[in-house]
Amino acid sequence: MQVAIVGGGQLARMLALAGWPLGLRFAFLVNEGDDTRSVEGLGRVLKCEPGLEPSVLYEALGRPVVITVEKEAVDTGLLEQLNAFCPVHPRPDVLRVCQNRRRQKLWLESLGIAVARHRFAHDAESLRTAAGELGFPLIVKAAEQGYDGRNQWRLADPSALDRFVGQPATGDWVVEEQVPFLREISLLAVRSAQGEIRFYPPTENRHVNGVLRTSLAPAIDLPEPALQAACEKVRQMLERTQYVGVLALEYFVLEDRLCLNEVAPRVHNSGHWTQQGSTTSQFENHLRAILGWPLGACDAKGHAGMVNILGTDAPPDALLSAAVTLHLYDKQKRPGRKLGHVNVRDDDRAKVEAELQRLEQRLGGG
Ligand code: AMP
Repeated sequence: MQVAIVGGGQLARMLALAGWPLGLRFAFLVNEGDDTRSVEGLGRVLKCEPGLEPSVLYEALGRPVVITVEKEAVDTGLLEQLNAFCPVHPRPDVLRVCQNRRRQKLWLESLGIAVARHRFAHDAESLRTAAGELGFPLIVKAAEQGYDGRNQWRLADPSALDRFVGQPATGDWVVEEQVPFLREISLLAVRSAQGEIRFYPPTENRHVNGVLRTSLAPAIDLPEPALQAACEKVRQMLERTQYVGVLALEYFVLEDRLCLNEVAPRVHNSGHWTQQGSTTSQFENHLRAILGWPLGACDAKGHAGMVNILGTDAPPDALLSAAVTLHLYDKQKRPGRKLGHVNVRDDDRAKVEAELQRLEQRLGGG
């Protein structure tokens, strides 16, 4: 059975690696210039050429039974057209909302979900007005093409704002208050084409310079009523939008409430621990979901963690231990680039925490 994935990075790789034992075969639709080493040998890699007929593309992808994505920055118009030949999951209209921070914020607010206080801005004047209304410190985020802390600026005070408006004259920005969060967690939900919904246990995440460094699951000591309410909202979101696949939601944790930072309509870095730490990985469950198969259990097998390998030369054998599993993406090294990750699993949480610390030290700052 053929599955097509838009994108050829590590998430596409891990989807394919999870799908091969299930008898699935893959094709990857990539853009000119994309680094596709991560998916080499895992299926046909097709470059998207402008003006290509959707029917020709569908044939070239090997007549897939379903098309999915590994990223949100995709041509949703093209996906709408391909939807005439086979299902596209998640739906292109939801991808379109999620790929733009402004549209995403409006969507979340329309669903009654708490997000950081924010304003939309497009030039120096509207940025100054936003700053006047929100106060400092602020975070300015480009509406599009922003991930892993890219296209994101922290403005501590009015002089930082002066410097910022001195550079680009116009843009499409979401300006947010800096949320004084205690911790960060993510929720990973999955809804199948048959409407079955499951949640993985919440994951605690630590970011460095806006990039995920470490995850630990299950997250503990969370404000339980707020967590239950958040899960209920997510369930409504999934049902109302007829969402199919894994959906990742990143939250700031405050004393007794959660504030949703952002939503990713795909498998997510903070769910990599599920490869060793759950009965069914997020990758397998995403595939099961989009194929309309029964979902697998989303339990946590004891405690599990993950550390990203960010542009480092650490030799693999220095990272391994009895509780550790290594995942490398075969990508070319660049400073700070996500080259792989290490998963840790143990019944004893303290042991997982100690291993995560050891790994972070070994891996350095990237
Ligand atoms: P994002 O690209 O929105 O996922 O942001 C990356 C990271 O930057 C988050 O995980 C937080 O650690 C931090 N961050 C983003 N937005 C805010 C905010 N409004 N307040 C405080 N920290 C933030």
